[in-house]
Amino acid sequence: MPPKTSRKTASRQDRHIRKQGSGQILSASRKAAHAHTKKQADLKRSAKDEKTLRPEDAVRIVNLGGLDEIGRNMSYIEYKDDIVIIDMGFQFPEEDTPGIDYIIPNIDDLKPKKDKIRAVVITHGHYDHIGAIPYLMGKLGNPTIYTLKLTKAIIERRQEEFINAPKLNIIEVKYGDKKKVGAFELDFFGVEHTIPDSMGVVVKTPLGNIAHFGDFHLDRSNDGKIYHVGEMERVGKMGIDVLMMDSTNALVQGTGISEYEVVENIEKLFLEANGRIIIATFSSMLTRIGEMIRIAEKLGKKVIINGRSMKQNVQIAETLGYFKFKSGTIISVQEMNKHKPEKVLIISTGAQGEPNAGLMRIVNGDHKFIQIQKGDTFIFSSSVVPGNERSVQTLTDNIARQGAKVYNSKLIDIHKSGHAPQEDIKIVLDKVKPKFLVPVHAYYHMRFVAGELGKQMGIPEKNIKIIDNGVEMLLTKDDLEITDREIDTSYVMIDGLGVGDVEEVVLRDRLMLAEEGMIVIIATLNRKTGKLMKNPDIISRGFIYMRDNQQLLKDIRAKIKSIVNRIPRHQQVESDYVKALFREQVGQFVFKKTHRRPMILPVIIEI
Ligand SMILES: [Zn+2]
Repeated sequence: MPPKTSRKTASRQDRHIRKQGSGQILSASRKAAHAHTKKQADLKRSAKDEKTLRPEDAVRIVNLGGLDEIGRNMSYIEYKDDIVIIDMGFQFPEEDTPGIDYIIPNIDDLKPKKDKIRAVVITHGHYDHIGAIPYLMGKLGNPTIYTLKLTKAIIERRQEEFINAPKLNIIEVKYGDKKKVGAFELDFFGVEHTIPDSMGVVVKTPLGNIAHFGDFHLDRSNDGKIYHVGEMERVGKMGIDVLMMDSTNALVQGTGISEYEVVENIEKLFLEANGRIIIATFSSMLTRIGEMIRIAEKLGKKVIINGRSMKQNVQIAETLGYFKFKSGTIISVQEMNKHKPEKVLIISTGAQGEPNAGLMRIVNGDHKFIQIQKGDTFIFSSSVVPGNERSVQTLTDNIARQGAKVYNSKLIDIHKSGHAPQEDIKIVLDKVKPKFLVPVHAYYHMRFVAGELGKQMGIPEKNIKIIDNGVEMLLTKDDLEITDREIDTSYVMIDGLGVGDVEEVVLRDRLMLAEEGMIVIIATLNRKTGKLMKNPDIISRGFIYMRDNQQLLKDIRAKIKSIVNRIPRHQQVESDYVKALFREQVGQFVFKKTHRRPMILPVIIEI
């Protein structure tokens, strides 16, 4: 019997999911997934006599986020008195959460156990893996973080922006390092990704070894050798019971292009261009940014970095020695005009058509120093995040209209994703040979397909666990069980710099305002008689253009008058009551007339 709280959680999640456009599909898949995991749990129970496994006798594995979404990655492993957390990321908001900056993992389940947390392992410096650190570490008793050098610097730089967040205790580790934390031993290994210093971790527990690969892709040198293949083999030799594996690109066939080919293609474009080059990419693609600066230097070009986050990342990587170029290669934007256009490379954020990013300002002519010129070459070295297709297309069109050339990865291979496609996933499965496979990251379908790949590689179906956020798994000497217990993983939303205090009511209001607009009714009433002193004022925003709808305006005024007139005379004005009447009756009236439900905001002035 699940505890009461978990049922409440489920209904909250369902409600949340239902709000989304594709809600039915999502909740259906969640239900199916749940039925599937439940069936597995039932099978286990009947096979195991009446004896039920107690969580304290097993190693608990829980994903607080990162499943059923891209981002918000956070998992933890618990055995008796010890807990290890892996990653602490945030998720960028979705369309149904207007005005929300980020969504972070829900740690209600961990808070009462914070004294047991022995380590937080951060696999790499992307925000979907580090983003929630400033918000959550204080609430978890500020446990020690274990991570690599560059990741440490990125986390520390960001922490400086949060004045009230605690000073972090970060232990820098290297590939191959081992650390004893409580009942666990951590063994860190190298993986290839789009940012230097990416790693995975093997958590050795008294009941078995759990490997988590973080985010990874495989990359090959020009003689076809896979980087870090030795690391994978080393992990395989440890004997891996549970593999938690990045499934983001499980739907993509093949092995994917190598980064050196991407870089070669970019170099070719650099050579063909005879004017300025403007490259748009993600500030998180730090490895490629470094390569682009290197090529520019080789070709005698000066580099301008456009975008705050990108500037910060490049600076950190340069200070720590990950990037090596001559002083004077990177110049400030003010120095741009001292150089011929063909000697200038601009690397910019905003490849997704984000309204506030540097690229949008250039394209719209709002940038203080950079305007598009005829002869410019724009290169989009990035993928288009699903949902952004239209804004990226508009952006591309606007560039082309102004006479510049545009290249993207549809025209030429100038992007490699940070996540392994099918054939590379199979290579990892072959090297690591896990007993149990738990696909993590991304949506259900991708995790499901990753599970299918596991089957193809010979992992028995019953050992492949396709689970959702908040599902509890128990690892014993010979099994990995899914239990009935569900951990609360409902959204915690960050609004500006305030933490997690955006209630459902606030969200509902924002949705209503965004979709339906609002009407403000200002009514001046005689305090004693409750009569209207003058014609009520009506202001509308985002609803309909009032000037063109004089009749509706008149009708609303008449409605307000009739509401006020029906209030019993000679009675002190009860303004809350009048407001409620306005909201309800004007709301209904407007709906009847327009089939829309704007938010009604009554203001009562008593004289
Ligand atoms: Zn990543």
